[in-house]
Amino acid sequence: MTPYKELSREQLQAMKADLEKQFEEVKAKGLNLDMSRGKPSKKQLELAMDMLEELKSTDKLKCETGIDCRNYGLLDGIPEARRLLGAMTEVSADQIVIFGNSSLNVMFDTVSRSMTHGVCGSTPWCKLDKVKFLCPSPGYDRHFKITEYFGIEMVTVPMTPAGPDMDMIEELVSSDPAIKGVWCVPKYSNPQGITYSEETVKRFARLKPAAEDFRIFWDNAYCIHHLYEEQDFLLEILEECEKAGNPDLAYKFISTSKVSFPGSGIAAVASSPRNLADFRKHMAIQTIGHDKINQLRHVRFFKDIEGMHEHMRKHAEILRPKFEAVENTLEKEIGGAGIGTWTTPKGGYFISFDSMEGCAKDIVAKAAEAGVKMTEAGATFPYGIDPYDSNIRIAPSFPTPEELQLATEIFVLSVKLVSIDKLLA
Ligand code: PLP
Repeated sequence: MTPYKELSREQLQAMKADLEKQFEEVKAKGLNLDMSRGKPSKKQLELAMDMLEELKSTDKLKCETGIDCRNYGLLDGIPEARRLLGAMTEVSADQIVIFGNSSLNVMFDTVSRSMTHGVCGSTPWCKLDKVKFLCPSPGYDRHFKITEYFGIEMVTVPMTPAGPDMDMIEELVSSDPAIKGVWCVPKYSNPQGITYSEETVKRFARLKPAAEDFRIFWDNAYCIHHLYEEQDFLLEILEECEKAGNPDLAYKFISTSKVSFPGSGIAAVASSPRNLADFRKHMAIQTIGHDKINQLRHVRFFKDIEGMHEHMRKHAEILRPKFEAVENTLEKEIGGAGIGTWTTPKGGYFISFDSMEGCAKDIVAKAAEAGVKMTEAGATFPYGIDPYDSNIRIAPSFPTPEELQLATEIFVLSVKLVSIDKLLA
């Protein structure tokens, strides 16, 4: 395909007229399609329905300690759930505390607790003049919303194909004691689907923070969410921190939201004994215990990590063709046109698209005009400000394959039209 930049004004104008006609035709259909959030489709949700059939009789409601899961007890979670979620994130059961239904909730609480009570006995962040977080970007919008909500200053760190720019992270973390944390989605990152390289993980583990209460917020949300048999490999961060003499450096967050049911799964934190003690101190005031019936239901349904992997293969069967449909349409329609690049992840929930500079907002608005909802442009950056106005997150999971095909075609039409306008301006 000839790059659009090499086309004459007349050629671009002729293309534009033709594309506008196509656009008006799809617009007239009055569609309502959603490629904005990483939600499993109905078909994926059906996969775990048998979980709701577990625990039907009273004699099934005891966990392996003999405790009746219908009653209070076991603040850290039932042992078999700690084992299962530990295996999911490659740590032992004693390195895991089970929480409620959402890992984002635990991340929010962790920042909140650090603000009011400090980290492992250090000065509460709310008493400091300035608190900063590093935000590898593009990143997960809801992470950035948490730090924004607490008035924490966010510093954008560029992403590379191997993870965040570690030169910048090392420099900032070691020189500025106001930097208290960094948001990371280390495997199949949201939105690019990047997995941090071994070197990146090792450099994280060896950080020498100026602040003793600096922590890595390692959100391992997509740890077992592969699309292909050939998987990305991520080094286990807690072991690397231990080896580097930094045992308390990282909090690892996970959940079964996109394994079982989003909003009705189980969340957990893995960390060092000292950090977990800090979590428990707060948690013991906050609750008498989380939902053990749900924990038991999950263990009975998946049985062990092999059962979970087996289940994730079924998700992949549904998700993979959707990712490939988007990628193939992008390649066919704009491959080589020089008006956009995109990622082709081996797992996770998103494809990240980068338009020509200064086009993302207009593309998202254009697609919305024809009834396709995308994640707001800019959302993948702190404060919702993409300095290049080029990144758009594509979430292919929720629509049916037919809806997705249509939505992608509309997206591509929007990209072409906005890019041509930019080149003609
Ligand atoms: N972390 C990341 C990176 C996500 O993409 C999401 C959901 O999209 C979450 C966390 C939310 O997880 P939970 O449902 O456990 O709160």
